[in-house]
Amino acid sequence: MNLIPHNKPTLAIEEQTACSEVFASGMLASSKQIEKFEDEICQFLGLPLGHAVATSSGSAALLVALKVLDSQNVAMPSYVCQSLKQASLLAGADADIIDIDQYSTNICQTKLSESTADTLIYPYLYGQASQLPKFSGLIIEDIAQALGAKLDGKMLGTIGDCGVLSFYATKLITSGGQGGMLVSKNKKVIDDARNFLNFDMPTDNKAHFNLPITELQAAIGRVQLGKLHQFIGHREKIWQIYYQAGLPLLTPTKSDIHKLNSVRYRAVIMTEKAKELIRFLTTKKIKAIIPIESWELLAPTENAMALANKTVSLPIYPSLTLEQASFIAELCFSFLNSEC
Ligand SMILES: *Cc1c(COP(=O)(O)O)cnc(C)c1O
Repeated sequence: MNLIPHNKPTLAIEEQTACSEVFASGMLASSKQIEKFEDEICQFLGLPLGHAVATSSGSAALLVALKVLDSQNVAMPSYVCQSLKQASLLAGADADIIDIDQYSTNICQTKLSESTADTLIYPYLYGQASQLPKFSGLIIEDIAQALGAKLDGKMLGTIGDCGVLSFYATKLITSGGQGGMLVSKNKKVIDDARNFLNFDMPTDNKAHFNLPITELQAAIGRVQLGKLHQFIGHREKIWQIYYQAGLPLLTPTKSDIHKLNSVRYRAVIMTEKAKELIRFLTTKKIKAIIPIESWELLAPTENAMALANKTVSLPIYPSLTLEQASFIAELCFSFLNSEC
């Protein structure tokens, strides 16, 4: 039996055909595919056309957002990937790294209230929907892991001042390995972002830089976006198998007043036996990981440290069969409920 990987992009003949067509056209410096990809993301998110700009990665989209918003001091949770901190430092801003709530991946509201940051990057980790915290400055919603998730019927990424998407190989959809997008309900943010990316002909003395997506990437991204609904549906089925099996999954904090629609980017369980479970699954040829290890945290804050040591991320992706998911669920359940 082959190893069941932890994650895997889902690519098929349609993506290959879309690439071949761009190849055959020879128009690599055109922006036909890119413009269509941007329009289709706007339609998907329920934004007017012209409210999205594609970038070379999610990190690039974060950097462009911070430059355009002129952020000087950026609040972010400690429990997240390095990209947020690095984008802030590269943008010339200070990073104000704040602990998360206990048993949640969300930034601690009390500590955020004491922050003097002018901008907040709010990631919806593992695809979990949540309400935005109270914050007096600008908010960048990081939906790199949550494309398609909703709050009260509204797409995440369209609620704050802008939204950042990633199409990296292992995200919900990929534009061929790398890619990103910046979206905003505020057209001026997008116009300014385009201006920032227009490095060849600056009309001012400000910094500009070349961080675009390519036609080939956009062509792949468009095909993947067309499949997102189906991808999310299959991920939900897998997540439900794990949930129904009684695995202690990390889920969004319940909300009495808001309707949360998460997407199942990751199936993360909380257990005191994290390392042991991962080792056990390896012997069964199943790859599970600690999604964010304690040494990867942006700062070793208390709640983030406690969570990092207790998490295991199980395989969940469109090409994982429901039979495989049931097999994984049974193994995990019996291991977690055994005495040793
Ligand atoms: C992947 C990711 C990013 C960065 O996106 P890249 O396309 O890899 O640069 C930012 N934030 C979160 C939450 C991510 O998961």
